[in-house]
Amino acid sequence: MTITLSQVSKVFGDFTAVHPLDLTIPEGSFFALLGASGCGKTTTLRMIAGLEDPSSGSVLLGDQDITALPPHKRPVNTVFQSYALFPHLDVYENIAFGLRRQGVKSVAGKVDEMLDLVELGPMARRKPRQLSGGQQQRVAVARALINRPQVLLLDEPLGALDLKLRRQMQLELKRIQTDVGITFVHVTHDQEEAMTMADQVAVMYGGRVEQLGAPAELYENPRTTFVANFLGTSNLIEAEVVDAGSDHALLKAADSKLRLPTERAHTTLRAGDRILAGVRPEKISLTLAADEGTIPEGRNRVPGTITDASFLGVSTQYVVNSPAGPELAVYEQNVERDSRLIPGADVVLHWNPAHTFGLDSAQAIDAGTGEDAA
Ligand code: ATP
Repeated sequence: MTITLSQVSKVFGDFTAVHPLDLTIPEGSFFALLGASGCGKTTTLRMIAGLEDPSSGSVLLGDQDITALPPHKRPVNTVFQSYALFPHLDVYENIAFGLRRQGVKSVAGKVDEMLDLVELGPMARRKPRQLSGGQQQRVAVARALINRPQVLLLDEPLGALDLKLRRQMQLELKRIQTDVGITFVHVTHDQEEAMTMADQVAVMYGGRVEQLGAPAELYENPRTTFVANFLGTSNLIEAEVVDAGSDHALLKAADSKLRLPTERAHTTLRAGDRILAGVRPEKISLTLAADEGTIPEGRNRVPGTITDASFLGVSTQYVVNSPAGPELAVYEQNVERDSRLIPGADVVLHWNPAHTFGLDSAQAIDAGTGEDAA
């Protein structure tokens, strides 16, 4: 079922946790609400579950307005970070619990189906304490799905797991969602988790949705500094618009001229305007300044000096100081590594202008880094 939030807000006392929000969560999608602590994502999820009354607006499931329905009357179930399994019941009975409570007599078929879904058949008679964290989480998911909800809400369900198990469970949850085909709404502060699992991600900041889109779209074409910095790393270069053409704008950053496709500018483009020119670190190539003549025409280029190089196996991450900006990040795949690219080397950073994006310079250049990203 499609979930529609229409002008939904939540105010606690004089604090607005969620500003009026319009959101459509398509039927059958894996949808992530992503943001740092306190951005309002859990409150939004709780309003879908019915655990929190909106201060304004309405929540629709398909065509039905469910704003006034209590949680247990909604065809929605929630999996929390603390899975709260019954310790004295085994896996089988934990999963069967919802059906037994409804007075369903023959639970076997459905419980077996759920055990298969989460691949815990051989562990059906174990108690929760005899399971790993990831296995307990799978029991919690099976228990939430057995009543066949139309929507499953997941509130930081992998928060208690260590990194390796989290990665496994991300793939596992995605597989389960594909198998059952119902809408999953997943709350997380982990950008990699949201990008791995979700079809659509709503990035929240300060009680508002900053940007909504498929993971690759958000990553390649961020519209705000928060999204640019919170999803991966971005170089944001302060520049001035020199000329605004129909396809491209010409920018000036220190002594460098940069080209920006107008369709990738998320701010006005008038000669004299300040702008932030963004480029992702892996889009940039490094060439020694002495070899600048080998760089093909038409690429954006800025000069700089390498201040740091970290070898990470598959790639090397460089930090480059440039008149165009301090501490520019460059990630190079280790294919044919130039051993002369070491700290102290004078270099040219260059990239295809098509990878440049333009952001409104009135925003904080560091939004989504540090505290914001906690
Ligand atoms: P976290 O990941 O830390 O849970 P979140 O993005 O899910 O963060 P919410 O739990 O939605 O954030 O909270 C949003 C804001 O609303 C926070 O500043 C929080 O302190 C505040 N808030 C949440 N519930 C209440 C409440 N019952 N009373 C007062 N303020 C609340």
